[in-house]
Amino acid sequence: MYSVDVKPKRIAILGATGSVGRQALEIIAGSDRLSACALSAGANWELLAEQARRFRPQAVAVADEGAAQSLSEALPGGVELLAGADAAAELVRKVRPDMVLTAMVGAAGLAPTLAAIESGADLAVANKESLVMAGAVIMPAAREAGIHVLPVDSEHSAIFQCLQGRPAEQVRKIVITASGGPFRTWEPERVATATLEEVLAHPTWQMGPKVTIDSATLMNKALEVVEAHWLFGLGADRIEVLIHPESLVHGLVEFSDGSILAQIGSTSMATPIAFALHYPQRAPEPPAPLDLGSVGELHLEAVDTKRFGAIELGFEVLRRGGTAGAVVNAANEAAVSAFADGRLAFGRIVNIVREVLNKVAVNPEVTARTILSADAEARRQAETLIAGERSAPGDAAPLP
Ligand code: MG
Repeated sequence: MYSVDVKPKRIAILGATGSVGRQALEIIAGSDRLSACALSAGANWELLAEQARRFRPQAVAVADEGAAQSLSEALPGGVELLAGADAAAELVRKVRPDMVLTAMVGAAGLAPTLAAIESGADLAVANKESLVMAGAVIMPAAREAGIHVLPVDSEHSAIFQCLQGRPAEQVRKIVITASGGPFRTWEPERVATATLEEVLAHPTWQMGPKVTIDSATLMNKALEVVEAHWLFGLGADRIEVLIHPESLVHGLVEFSDGSILAQIGSTSMATPIAFALHYPQRAPEPPAPLDLGSVGELHLEAVDTKRFGAIELGFEVLRRGGTAGAVVNAANEAAVSAFADGRLAFGRIVNIVREVLNKVAVNPEVTARTILSADAEARRQAETLIAGERSAPGDAAPLP
């Protein structure tokens, strides 16, 4: 008998204080194969400092420069501090981790994602927005760098797991499931004026506020269709969405002979996070066990496109190509934050996104520059439309 001394995989967690980041750190805390070598956050310096004291990363980054002074006083000795809008990307270049988990929210994930690819780190992608905006830049760059792009999104992790070791020509289509969100059975009139509190009460998933709002509008599923296109290289005609209220079957792959493989797991992001962090190994213990025998029934049904029209926007992005993904993502981010601030009715979010997609010219050439300019133009158009709206119902509160 002999043992091989394997160094733990060094992981940089971007968005360490968010829902996915915190769960990733718990997985790392329970594993001797993984270590957290770098952590970044937007503005939550108190939690970031606490995480730094516990995990002793080489360096941390905070986007909010106003939080840098307090953070620097709260950090343990020997942990380097970077601050500012570009700090997460700089952190990756400096620390050169084995893997970068992109768990921050929104378009801010793009620059650090590109930095991770340049530095040769594997990518665990929880920031779906970066792929929606810039899959056409990210995926070829990742291939050229020879790095792995590992999905953390539960549906995409499921499909990735079903595809392991199977050649692309055997795949007929992939299927993403959707819970249908908190308003699956509500009357449309009532959904239109849903409050932030109702929106944040997701029936099956505990997630950060942005993705929870996206899950209620079903824009999350539109973004996931685009994400699936880039991760798996399939066109719109080979990607399907099914409604599955229990959220236990996360994704399926149909093969050329009609056989369908599905991945099943609990409604906890810990499972797909652990899969990506341990890849190509698997976590030795289930981070969120599921007792399938106690589940009872599982339902799968076709999407009612009248009720869940938002999903169609994902397929529309694929048909338009170019910078359409950046436009839809930016318009959605602007509309979601307007809803969260009480400036926009819930029922108007998807309409704003659709109107902006019809207004902003899609550039067929996709580069970092055309993406950022499409993003900026879409936000401008969205804000103009939002400013013209009557204000939303009164009980909206700021995002937690
Ligand atoms: Mg998902």
